[in-house]
Amino acid sequence: MIGLAAAGLAAAGLAAHGTWHRNSWVFGYALNQLPESAGNAVSITFDDGPNPHATPLILDALAREGVHATFFVLGRHADRWPHLVRRMADEGHQLANHGYWHRKLHRRMPSYVRDDLTRGTDAICRASGLASLRHFRAPHGFRSPWVTPIAASLGQRTVGWSLGVWDSARPGAGEIVKRALAGMRARSILLMHDGDGYDEDGDRLQTAEALPAILRGLRERGHDFVTLPDHPGHLTASA
Ligand SMILES: [Zn+2]
Repeated sequence: MIGLAAAGLAAAGLAAHGTWHRNSWVFGYALNQLPESAGNAVSITFDDGPNPHATPLILDALAREGVHATFFVLGRHADRWPHLVRRMADEGHQLANHGYWHRKLHRRMPSYVRDDLTRGTDAICRASGLASLRHFRAPHGFRSPWVTPIAASLGQRTVGWSLGVWDSARPGAGEIVKRALAGMRARSILLMHDGDGYDEDGDRLQTAEALPAILRGLRERGHDFVTLPDHPGHLTASA
């Protein structure tokens, strides 16, 4: 009995680890760092957009700096502002799936997860004109045993991140820059937010304001920028 109870506790502990640790291997592999072939390169990623205020400014800054980023677009925001999703694609950025509703997925049944991921994909493809998406990031990184396999069944690789700078808490643009430059290393994947998963009109202007200094600071340190590999070893450099 004691052995069974201990096994049960261990299983519960593993389940909690898989749910709460965003990059956990327990519920399947999530890409949380670029492969060795990336060398000194880094990736810039944005979640929860598009947003009518911040996204255009972020796209302007990326264009000025000649950097291609990855946008984990929220399906319902794509339905609301399809022209911004189209602009991301037209300007050469990588588009990826963040689901449709932005509800945490770790306690949802497989049918809900599949519906959310499929709706998100359809909305983003409709808005962008793309035929398919290759990457998925779960809201808050929360997963259950079936989230990564469902994403894989849609042809999407599950992605985590190396560094979050809590830009969504709006600590000030200067603080966002400081955190990003302090935490980024070769092959890091930076997580920021061009939108708000819970408020379609949410304020992400600090992120937009911080971005140019982050890009220039990283470049001064010798980092190149790449989008996320579709599969191990595949990298696409920015223009
Ligand atoms: Zn999100």
